[in-house]
Amino acid sequence: MALLQRTPFFLLTPQLLLALRRNFAVPGSGEPLPVVRIPQALQRRQEQRQNGRQSALRPVLVRPGRLLISARRPELSQPARLTLGRWESAPLASRGWRNRRARGDYFSIERAQREVPALPNVASEGSFAELGLEPRVLRALQEAAPEVVRPTTVQLSTIPQLLRGRHILCAAETGSGKTLSYLLPLLQRLLVRPSLDSRRVPAPRGLVLVPSRELAQQVRAVAQPLGSSLGLQVRELGGGHGMRRIRLQLSKQPPADVLVATPGALWKALKSRLLILEQLSFLVLDEADTLLDESFLELAQYVLEKSNIAESPADLEDPLDPKAQLVLVGATLPGGMGQLLSKVTSLDSLTTITSSKLHCIMPHIKQTFMRLKGAEKVTELVQILKQHDRADRTGPSGTVLVFCNSSSTVNWLGYILDDHKIQHLRLQGQMPASMRVGIFQCFQKRSQDILLCTDIASRGLDSTRVELVVNYDFPLTLQDYIHRAGRVGRVGSEVPGTVISFVTHPWDVRLVQKIELAARRRRSLPGLESSVKEPLPYQT
Ligand code: ADP
Ligand code: MG
Repeated sequence: MALLQRTPFFLLTPQLLLALRRNFAVPGSGEPLPVVRIPQALQRRQEQRQNGRQSALRPVLVRPGRLLISARRPELSQPARLTLGRWESAPLASRGWRNRRARGDYFSIERAQREVPALPNVASEGSFAELGLEPRVLRALQEAAPEVVRPTTVQLSTIPQLLRGRHILCAAETGSGKTLSYLLPLLQRLLVRPSLDSRRVPAPRGLVLVPSRELAQQVRAVAQPLGSSLGLQVRELGGGHGMRRIRLQLSKQPPADVLVATPGALWKALKSRLLILEQLSFLVLDEADTLLDESFLELAQYVLEKSNIAESPADLEDPLDPKAQLVLVGATLPGGMGQLLSKVTSLDSLTTITSSKLHCIMPHIKQTFMRLKGAEKVTELVQILKQHDRADRTGPSGTVLVFCNSSSTVNWLGYILDDHKIQHLRLQGQMPASMRVGIFQCFQKRSQDILLCTDIASRGLDSTRVELVVNYDFPLTLQDYIHRAGRVGRVGSEVPGTVISFVTHPWDVRLVQKIELAARRRRSLPGLESSVKEPLPYQT
């Protein structure tokens, strides 16, 4: 009581007041009980605080049901019905993974749907005929690819624009059918504009530039049957074989109407005047983000400058002065393309098409992240591969891609798999061209079920039979993660896809946390937004 008298009221903490009330309320003490009035607002605040503290301590109970994130520690799992708000933070399953003690932890982003998001939901949403393609192109498509019946979302949006003569910058997720998006309008345009004359020097009218020989082979393989139904010659110009081979490739008769080329080989051919681009009517940069990164930028710039690119759709009409329509496609597009493109065309004639799912964690692929010690990776990989190979597995079994960050790791890991009698193919950039030729095609034809590779196999290569991607080394950028993960769950994939990533370094953890947060928020991955206005970071 004395304490109460001496304490100024404003210094009474709610705890003190409650304690006093409790003391005074002892029944049967005989003394008349003084009444201490505690302001109601104070009482309410105290109660709220206590309730809040209780709920903070209460364990999060994950009700049974489908999960978006399933974590080893169940309290960190997130049910599929919940989406984290844009500014909300949540305890991540990968929190604390920089610490060595986190080794052995894991979590998965679960498969939310089986359908590939690149296909439109509504069957009646459009047909190839409605997009403005000519009957002979449609016939060629039907003959060459009978399984392609309905256009994908990206094809629905790009083909009509291209047929109208717009330049297109298209960013859409991997495996969404971008190749046919540009090939069909390209071929139609060449049909409408017959060749001017037969020159001594080959002068292709359609050019598709791709960053690797394997991708050149693949695009040529898609374009050739279409071209031959339409009476157009499709040829490939890949590097790594020296000038003699380039000369040989270009001297074939009849000359190419459409050339699918890698930048290095094309540059050599242009410099040696084995090829000219004066007749070019259609220029495609496929996997434009790679073509515009440091390693290829100069070559791509050279090709853009050598091509006579139209200023506007009207510019494409003059039959005596051929100008090229420009298409850039990619699953990720770097910022600052505008700066580069403004040197060769007017930005007003450029239409940007981005898919709504661009840079989002793909909902139809299960993605598991395992925090491991570097030395444990081999054992884990061997176990996964053996498990995958088990004869008693139920359901269809697809192939496996194992990604490493360097050619030397591919070689080293290859020897280890040999020791374990696990048959596989290897593909890395330091192999001689003669060895590289056909390796990916062998893998696609399933002569082997496992391919050890570097990122040269992560860009654009079509792989509808791949069931599992293992990131033996975690990719160094989110772009690489998207491209690698995009080798599974493609339009037309025969098996549902899974990605397993080994996480060992602190810089891996940083990327994993970004991926996990984007998945919990169901938003796109940060830092990949592209705008034609931003400068390219590496431009001088
Ligand atoms: P991207 O270049 O967007 O990564 P691709 O052009 O390589 O994708 O196509 C991925 C797969 O989808 C290929 O096997 C292709 O044959 C198939 N495909 C493309 N368009 C369609 C379609 N409209 N219907 C069914 N399958 C398609
Ligand atoms: Mg592609």
